[in-house]
Amino acid sequence: MYLERCNYLEVEAYLKEHDTIIIPIGSIENHGKHMPLGTDTFIPNKICSLINEQSWCMIAPTINYGATDDLVGFAGTISIGVDGMIDLLTRITDQLYAYGFRHFVVVNGHGGNTKSIDSVGQKLSRKGAYMAICNWWLMAGQINPEWRGGHGGKEEANGVLAYDPTLIKKEYLDLDECTRNDLGKELPYGSWSSINYKGVSVTVPRPIKSITDNGYLIYGIQQDYPRDCSEEMGKAMVQGVADYISEFIDVFAKTKLPEE
Ligand SMILES: [Zn+2]
Repeated sequence: MYLERCNYLEVEAYLKEHDTIIIPIGSIENHGKHMPLGTDTFIPNKICSLINEQSWCMIAPTINYGATDDLVGFAGTISIGVDGMIDLLTRITDQLYAYGFRHFVVVNGHGGNTKSIDSVGQKLSRKGAYMAICNWWLMAGQINPEWRGGHGGKEEANGVLAYDPTLIKKEYLDLDECTRNDLGKELPYGSWSSINYKGVSVTVPRPIKSITDNGYLIYGIQQDYPRDCSEEMGKAMVQGVADYISEFIDVFAKTKLPEE
C-alpha cells in the first residue's frame, strides 16, 4: 500500500490497525560507466514494489536524494549532505509520528545515508518510537554470500538488472577497478576513502574523484565484478531481500515501544 496512492481517510483507517511505515531512501550518484546515477534509488524501489505485493505495510514516498558528498564532482551526482538528510528525514518522520506512526522501517540503498538515518532513529527511540534500518546490500550478502558486493559491482548491477535491464551499459561491464594512490606511495589506497598504512586502515575523507576515474569501487570484494552480473541472479536477490523484510516487519511491528 503506497501512501501517495491513498486518500486521508484510507490513512486514518490504516492507523486504526497499524503504526508501521516503510520509508525507501536512495541517492543520485555516480556508480561507474556501466551503471545509472539512480542505482541506489532504483533498487530500494524495486524491493519495496515486491514487498508491496505481499505485505500489508504502508510505503511512504521514496527520498530520491542522498548524502553523497564524497562523489560530488562526477557529473550528475547531487548530494544533500549528512545534515540535509537529517533535516529532511526528521521532518518526514516527525509528521508521520504526529499522525500516529511509531514503527519506521527504512529501506536504504546508500551507505553514505546511514549516519543521518542512525541519528534520526536514535531521536525517535527517545520519543517512544522505533526505526529499523534495512541496508539492503548488506542484508543481501548475509542472506546469500554469493550476492555480497560493493559500490558499482556485481551486486548492484544485479539489482539494476532486476529493476530495468536496459539501464546497464554492457559495453562497460568489463571495466577494471581504477584506483590510484592519491596520497602517495607510502599511503596506498585501501578501501573507499581509507588508506592502508602498515596493514592497518586509516580513513582520510576526500573526494572519490581523486581516487578513481570512473567511480567503480569494489575495494577487493571477491566475486563482485560487474561483468558477472545476471538478470536471473538479480531477480532472485531482490525477491530474497523483499521476502526477508516482509517477514521482519511482521515481527518488528509487534514490538513493544520504548518509554518516552
Ligand atoms: Zn550504490
